[in-house]
Amino acid sequence: MSFLIIKNGRVIDPAAKRDAKGDVFIADGKIAKSLTPAQKKQAKVIDATGFVVCPGLVDIHVHFREPGQTHKETILTGSMAAAAGGFTTVVCMPNTVPPADNAGTVELINNAARSAAVHVYPTGCITVGMKGQQLAPHGSLKKAGVVAITDDGLCVESNEIMRRAVEYAQMFDLPVLDHCQDESMTKKAVMNEGTVSTRLGLQGWPHAAEDIIVARNIILSHYTGAHIHMQHISSAHSVELVRRAKKDGINVTAEATPHHIALTEEALGTYDTNFKMNPPLRTEADRRAIIAGLRDGTLDCIGTDHAPHAPEEKDKEFDYAPNGIIGLETALPVCLDVLVRRSRFKLPYVIDLMTRRAANILKLPAGTLAPGAAADVCIFDPTETWLYDTYKAFSKSINSPWSGQQMTGRVKTTIVSGKVVYANGKMV
Ligand SMILES: [Zn+2]
Ligand SMILES: [Zn+2]
Repeated sequence: MSFLIIKNGRVIDPAAKRDAKGDVFIADGKIAKSLTPAQKKQAKVIDATGFVVCPGLVDIHVHFREPGQTHKETILTGSMAAAAGGFTTVVCMPNTVPPADNAGTVELINNAARSAAVHVYPTGCITVGMKGQQLAPHGSLKKAGVVAITDDGLCVESNEIMRRAVEYAQMFDLPVLDHCQDESMTKKAVMNEGTVSTRLGLQGWPHAAEDIIVARNIILSHYTGAHIHMQHISSAHSVELVRRAKKDGINVTAEATPHHIALTEEALGTYDTNFKMNPPLRTEADRRAIIAGLRDGTLDCIGTDHAPHAPEEKDKEFDYAPNGIIGLETALPVCLDVLVRRSRFKLPYVIDLMTRRAANILKLPAGTLAPGAAADVCIFDPTETWLYDTYKAFSKSINSPWSGQQMTGRVKTTIVSGKVVYANGKMV
C-alpha cells in the first residue's frame, strides 16, 4: 500500500459541494476518507498551502493524431500536455489516419493509451471512413471500448443517415457527438461570415450553418430520444436553440471551447493562422452568449478541441492552413481569466464545468474527490503568473494563439490514480 496526503490546500470538490481548507488523503490509488496514524507515518506529503486542490480536469474533446499523424502529436505527448494542464481524463476523437471506424483501430489506440500519462478514452466513428454514407459498426466499437461515437472534423450531412446513426448508437447506449456544420453552406470558408470577413477579403462561414445542424440534431433527439451532444458551440443562436431544447426536456448536451469564450474574429486582422479554427472565432455577441450559456447551464462543459498541427502545415497562407489549435496546457488559465476574473463565475462552478459535468456527459468514472474514487487530482496555484512558451511545453505542436503570453493560474501537480505524473513543470 502507498499513501499520500495533500495538505492545507483549498479543497474544491463540486460533486460533494466541498469548498474548504483541508487535506486530501490517498490510499493505494484511491481517495480515502482518512488514514490511520500508522498510514500517515508512511505517507508521502504534498504541501498545497495557497493552492487549489480539485478533481483532475476532464476534457471530452481532444485530437491526439495517433495512428497516422504522429508528427503532430502522439497519445503519449498529448497525454503529457494533458497532465501539464491539470487534466487526468481525456476523450480522443476518431479522425485519425485511418479513422477509428473499426475495432482494430480502437484496440491500437487503447494499446497506446495504456502507457499514456493520463486516462485516455477512445471514441469511434459514426460512419465508415467518416464519409457520411454507411454506418460504422457501433456495437463492435463499443465492445472495443469507445465511450461515444462521432465524425468530428466532419458533420454527418444526411439527415436520414444521422437519424439511423443515433438510433443505432442508442441501442448500445453510446452518445453521439456531432460537429455541427452544414458543409454545403461553408465551402472554402475560413472564418466567420460578417463585416470582418468582408473587410479582410476572406471567405465566410455563416453561423446559420451551425444553427441548422444544431436544430436538426435537437429535432432528431426529440424524435428518437437519443442523446446527442453538440461539440464546440460557437454561435449565439445555437446557444439559444440548446437552451430551448433543454427547457423542453430534450436529451441534448453541448460544450464550449476556451478559445470561443476568450477570442473573437477581430483577432484575425493579422492573418495569423493560430486564430484559424473550425468552427471559427465569431463576434463579441456570440462570445458573450456562449459565456451566458455556460453560466445558466445551457452549455454543459468546457472541451478544448486540442488540435495539434505541425509548424510547416500551419505556417501557410490563411486560406491554405489547416484548422485548429492546441489547448490542453492553457485551458485552465484561460478559463480562470475569462470566466472567474472577467465574468465573475464562482471558482467551484468553473471547476465543475471542467470536471464532473464533462465526465457526466459520457458517464466517465471521473470528476470527484469522493472517498473510493480514483485518486485523480489537480493542484494549481490560482495566482501564479507564468509565460506560456510553446517550445518548452509538452504538446508536440506549437499552434496556439496564446504562445508567448503571460498566463495567470498554474498547475503545480497532477496526480493520476494516486501517482504523481506531473509536478513543478516536469513530467514525473
Ligand atoms: Zn469539430
Ligand atoms: Zn475536434
